[in-house]
Amino acid sequence: MRAAVLRAPGAPLAIEDVHLDPPRRGELRVRIEAAGVCHTDYHYMTGDMTCPLPIVLGHEGAGVVEEVGPGSAGRVHVGERVALLWRPHCGRCAMCVRGNPAMCELGRVQATTGGLPDGTSRLSEDGATVHHFLGVSCFAEHVVVSEDAVVPVPDGVPPAIAAIAGCAVITGAGAALNAVPDPAGTALVVVGAGGVGLAAVMGARLRAAEPVIVLDVDPGKFELARRVGADVTLDARDPAVVEAVLALAPSGVPAVIDAVGRPETIERSFAMLAPTGTLAVVGLTRADARVALPVNELVQRQKRVVGALYGASNPFVDLPRIFALYLAGRLPLDELLGATRPLEDVNDTYAELARGSVGRTILVP
Ligand SMILES: [Zn+2]
Ligand SMILES: [Zn+2]
Repeated sequence: MRAAVLRAPGAPLAIEDVHLDPPRRGELRVRIEAAGVCHTDYHYMTGDMTCPLPIVLGHEGAGVVEEVGPGSAGRVHVGERVALLWRPHCGRCAMCVRGNPAMCELGRVQATTGGLPDGTSRLSEDGATVHHFLGVSCFAEHVVVSEDAVVPVPDGVPPAIAAIAGCAVITGAGAALNAVPDPAGTALVVVGAGGVGLAAVMGARLRAAEPVIVLDVDPGKFELARRVGADVTLDARDPAVVEAVLALAPSGVPAVIDAVGRPETIERSFAMLAPTGTLAVVGLTRADARVALPVNELVQRQKRVVGALYGASNPFVDLPRIFALYLAGRLPLDELLGATRPLEDVNDTYAELARGSVGRTILVP
């Protein structure tokens, strides 16, 4: 099958003919219908973050189950449409039992081995191992994934929406739904108006934050941000942007969602927080990045800074909620979609992403 392979940081992805073994016990083969172009893959392409190589990238996907491995638990059937998750749910480890499968210990196994939850790969080329990216690897015609890493997609949810729901949407909207205290009637700032940030705006709107303030360095993204629920848009390049936020929320902002996650944006987001306010950081950056925060302000104003992988969501609970809200017209996720392109365009698409393209590009293998 055709797949986009990363062989070395800095090298373009190569469309190669990769062999995919059949699913083993507890696994599924899925035909990919849509794969979202997410910034996280780009961090591995540039070397900001590292993973076992060679690897088939792509972690935001949806498709149709083609084959169920032997000894399946019977939760998923051939022909069913599923969204893929980049963290599995073993159901037995302490984090799963506590209702936080985004922290399932098998997620670490997948990330460090470049394998499926058992640590081995179904991908190869001329007999040499090719790795799975976060247990997904959906920049490919087909994937083999754990049956504990998929969520059924209801009728009426298109493949592209199902794909982005499993990463950008659950990360952004999930942060607004789960990672910050009740924002109803108080200011909420979203930093970054890419797919994750806009999904956070939609989530903030659902939770009745008022006003919803969006910061981005690209004013070209502001019209869309306002369409999906931003009340105020501010140019993040303005050196006085913190003062502009504080003019709208004089005692500080109770909730900030930082969808960029660079040290400078985190430090600036921290400065905007109200006493007892929560800064939820969902963006990823270079592996060696550090932030410097004023300790006394942290303590004396009881500010909170939390990391929110997967938007601090439980995908097995929250993705069905997101699909229901989409189908009810309460989450305008179609607004997030950009162009649909063939898998062969993957490198061009990432070059556009790096330049700040608007809308989530969907690759169709
Ligand atoms: Zn992603
Ligand atoms: Zn677990």
